[in-house]
Parts: sequence; structure tokens; C-alpha cells
Amino acid sequence: MARTPTKAAIEPGAVRHIGSLKIVFRYLLRYPKQLAYAAIALLLAALATLAIPRQLQQMVDKGFGSQTGNIAPYFHYMFMIVGVLAIATAARFYFVSWLGERVVADLRRDVHANLLGQAPRFFEENRPSEISSRLTADTSVIEQTVGTTVSIALRNVVLGIGGIIYLFVLAPGLATMLVIGIPLIIVPIVLIGRKVRDVSRASQDRIADVGAMTSETLGAMKIVQAFGQEARERGRFAQAVEASFETACRRITWRAALTLVVITMIFSAITGIMWEGAADVVAGRLTGGTITAFIFAGVLTASSFGALTEVWGDILRGAGAAGRLGELLQAAPDISRGPKAVAMPAPRGSLSFDSVTFRYPTRPDDRALDDFTLTVEPGETVAVVGPSGAGKSTLFQLALRFYDPQRGTVRIDGVPLSSADPAELRQRIAYVPQETVLFAASARDNLRYGRWDAADEELWETARLANAETFLRGLPEGLDTYLGEGGARLSGGQRQRIAIARAMLRTAPILLLDEATSALDAESERLVQDALERLMVDRTTVVIAHRLATVRSANRIIVMDQGRIVEQGSHDALEAGGGLYARLAKLQFEGA
Ligand code: ATP
Repeated sequence: MARTPTKAAIEPGAVRHIGSLKIVFRYLLRYPKQLAYAAIALLLAALATLAIPRQLQQMVDKGFGSQTGNIAPYFHYMFMIVGVLAIATAARFYFVSWLGERVVADLRRDVHANLLGQAPRFFEENRPSEISSRLTADTSVIEQTVGTTVSIALRNVVLGIGGIIYLFVLAPGLATMLVIGIPLIIVPIVLIGRKVRDVSRASQDRIADVGAMTSETLGAMKIVQAFGQEARERGRFAQAVEASFETACRRITWRAALTLVVITMIFSAITGIMWEGAADVVAGRLTGGTITAFIFAGVLTASSFGALTEVWGDILRGAGAAGRLGELLQAAPDISRGPKAVAMPAPRGSLSFDSVTFRYPTRPDDRALDDFTLTVEPGETVAVVGPSGAGKSTLFQLALRFYDPQRGTVRIDGVPLSSADPAELRQRIAYVPQETVLFAASARDNLRYGRWDAADEELWETARLANAETFLRGLPEGLDTYLGEGGARLSGGQRQRIAIARAMLRTAPILLLDEATSALDAESERLVQDALERLMVDRTTVVIAHRLATVRSANRIIVMDQGRIVEQGSHDALEAGGGLYARLAKLQFEGA
């Protein structure tokens, strides 16, 4: 059987993970009815398969062996058996595949749900591309394991054991010969079969090399020609093609050997048994029908054992995949509600940092915040300025409780965040990140990400305040217009205004605004600035400021460097002070 190698999903340690299939069983047990149907169908199909040789025996002995009597029933029975076999096999396929698909759907859903609850640290330690490959490739492996492999294994266990019992009932002497003979036939076939598979895989890799080389060269044709490297590329390609031919030759050699062994072994065995059986028939110890049935059942039993050795590797691969998914499924979030979470008081909008020291988990030696203290009163606007890497964005990461500080306390409305429910405290925050993140969805859905129950009139009103109304009205399908991957069909300034409108809709008392530094033209900048100023009204605002206008409208400016506050005061006072702020202001604002 040709098997596509899914080597990307195979880990060398897969063998150790056989216990990981427990997770899959737990999911399977949720569907006892379908499991029962599958088991019944599986058993019925195996029994019907085993009934075929018995019926063959009858047909040969009674149908061909005697000239008198009614032979029709033997053939009728055969039709019935074939009918049962067909229906039971189809039912088995349906239920087992259904279970495979169902388990995978449940696993995908649960893994995804667990991922949504993880803190950012998790995604810093596990690459998102790796996680999404687990969600797709590994779940497909499990689907194959449950939907195909396990069913093949169970069917062959039943057939193999049933077959051996049946063979002993038919002709104990011949059966003993066969039981001794089966391993002699199967072992070389399986060993050579494995070799064929390995060489096939190598052959596919060589073909992939040729493909990769082709696309690389064709993609860089101008460079190849400009540098006059055609001859070298021709040589390299010819080498790759020859390597692929040589591997293919090894593959066909082993394949030929396999064919030789299979035909020799199987037909010799059958002939040997027939010879031995014929002697028994001549001596009157067995009938012709029994020999026919024996050979049929013998081939069936032998191929069942052969198939079992084949599927073991697949089961291990499924276990490896289950293990990797299990890690995602069982990962406990760093930051969660916790048993001691206290209820938050009515929202007022105060935010404070009290002697906070924080190091990012992936950078345990660097203090992103160093004994940082700041209190923002309800309704106040505080602008934060400072050189790149000073720790400004980190303030927001902690206020949103994406991380917990190692020392000190962050509070919202007086409640220490470590004892608050993250979902509840985030409801009090409207966040406009530096990099606008929009979804591949309609303008309406992107706006409503701020609040799903907002009606269209409210969306338009907010869009107006955010200076987004004019361009939204100009979109071909208004709010229904699809904005493209990451909002790619809008300009940078338009994306920002959507992000601002989204934050406005949130009606949260605290606004965290990471002002974008991206170069906007003067007109867009004015529109965005206007929108931001409206957004700040009546809210407690902390703004990481890059624009002079924002800084001027703030009640207070704090200047950060290396995770600490180095200066604070009003624009004029700080500028007059001639410190870091004065230098930054000179660079940022006068140079702009
Ligand atoms: P900018 O103005 O360039 O955005 P910033 O003042 O906002 O800078 P932060 O993003 O708060 O700076 O970063 C403070 C320090 O923490 C920097 O040294 C940065 O390299 C580090 N840092 C930021 N995010 C992470 C992270 N996720 N993991 C590890 N270190 C981080």
C-alpha cells in the first residue's frame, strides 16, 4: 500500500508517546452510540469475511461435488454473506470515519479555546507557526489514526484470531503447518516492504530537491543570466536529476525483489498446502471444499497479520501527534482568574503602578520597569515620553495584565491586578496599539470588535467622531465592505481611524493609547489627531506620545528612561529644565 510520508509531523520521540493516545480515547468515549455502532459493524464485517471460506467449502463440496440434490441454497447463502459484508463494511467505514472527524473537530475546538486563554508569554515560547501546524497537521494525523488505522488494526486482530481458530477447526494438521509457516512468509515480506518504503521516501525527497532547485533557479533567472551562471546551474540541476534517478533505481530494485519474494513465497506456500491437502483428499481425510476453504482462510489470516505489522508505525505516529496536541490542550495559562479573584468596584478609571519591577520572562536579566511608581487619577491625561526601549509600551502590557510584575503592584480602581479577573479588568480599558491590527472581515465587524451589540447608527456616529465616516461612506459596500487581510485595502491613516473608532465604542473608562509613529501625511495626521482628542475626552488616558500636540494637551508629562521616571511636569517646565525631555523634544518635534 502506498503511504504518503507525513514526516513533518513525526517526532523521533514518538515511540515514548504511546500513552498519549489516552487523550484521543477520552474524546472517543464522548460518543458511545457511534462507538457501539462502529464496533458492531466491525465485528459483523469480520464474521462475514470469515463466513466466506466456510461457504466456499459448502459450494465446492455440495455444488460441484455431487450431481444430485438442490445446490441453490449454498449459492443463496453466499449472496447473503456478500450482502452482509458489503453493508457492514460500508457502515464500519461510515462510523469509524465519522468518529475520526468528530474527535478532530472537538480537539481543534478545545485546543483553540485553550490557546485563547494563554498569556503572551506562551506565544513567545511557542512559535505561532508551530502551533498552527499542530492544529492542522497533527489533527489530520489523529483523524487518520482514528478513522483508518485503528479500524484496520481492530479488523485484522479479529480476522487474524478468528482465522486461526477457523483453520484449526477445518484441518488441524495443515493449520499447524501454516502457523509455523506464516512468520517465515511474513517476516521477509515485511522487512523488504519496509526497505521499499524507506527508499520511496528518499526518492520523494530527491524529487522534492529537483523541484526546489527548479523554482529557485527560475525565480532568480535574471541573476543567473546577469552573472553568467547558466552552465553552473545546468550542472547542478543535472546532478540533482541523476541523484533522483539513482534513488529511483534503488527503489525499483527493492520493489522488484519484493515482487519476487511475494510471488514465490505465497504461491509456494499455497502449492505446498495444496499438495499436502491433496494427499489428505486422496487418502480420504479431507474434502476438496475443505482445502479450498483452508487456502482462502489461510491467505486471509496471513494478510491480516501482515497488515497488523504495517499499522503499528501509523499508530505510533498518531500517538506522537496526540502527545503534541495534548501539550497545547493541557497548557495552563500563566495568567488567569485565580480562585481568590476579588470583585471589581464600580468603574472610576484610576490606574496606579506602585514600586513595580518587571522583567520579561524571555529576558530575565533586564529590568523593563525598575521600581516604577505612577498614579493616574480618574479623568487625567498623562503623556509618557522617552527614548526607544525605555519601557513605555511595557506599562500597557502590565496594565492589561498580559504579564504580572515580579515586584510591586499595579492597580485599577484600587484593586491589585493580581487578584482581579483579567477579563473583567480588561473591560475597563480601551487600547489603541501602535501597530493597528484589523481582521480580514467587513468594516462593520472590525468596528464592532469594540462592542458586538453596537447598532449601525452608533457605528456611524462613532465613525463620525473618529473622522472615519467620510471614507467609510465612500467604500463600495459601506460597512459591509471586506477590508482584506489585516485591513490591507485601507490606507495606514484609515486603518488607524478604524482602530480609534473601535476603542471609542468600547466605552471603557481608561484609555491606553500607543500613538503611532508611522509617517502619515499632514492631512491624515490631523484627522487622526482630531479623532484621538475626542477619544480622550472624559477618559483616564495614558498616551505614549510622539506628537507635540498630544503632549501639550496632557495634564502631566512623564519622561521615562531605562524603566524609570526620570522627569515629570508640564511641557513648558520640562523644556525649560533642559533635561532629557528638552533634548527629546528638540529632536522629535523640531526636527519633524
Ligand atoms: P518604543 O518606543 O521603541 O516602542 P518602549 O519604550 O515602548 O520602546 P518597551 O517596548 O516597553 O519599550 O520595551 C522595554 C524593554 O523591554 C526593551 O528593552 C525591550 O527590548 C524589552 N521587551 C519588550 N517587549 C519584550 C518581550 N515581549 N520580551 C522580551 N523583552 C521585551
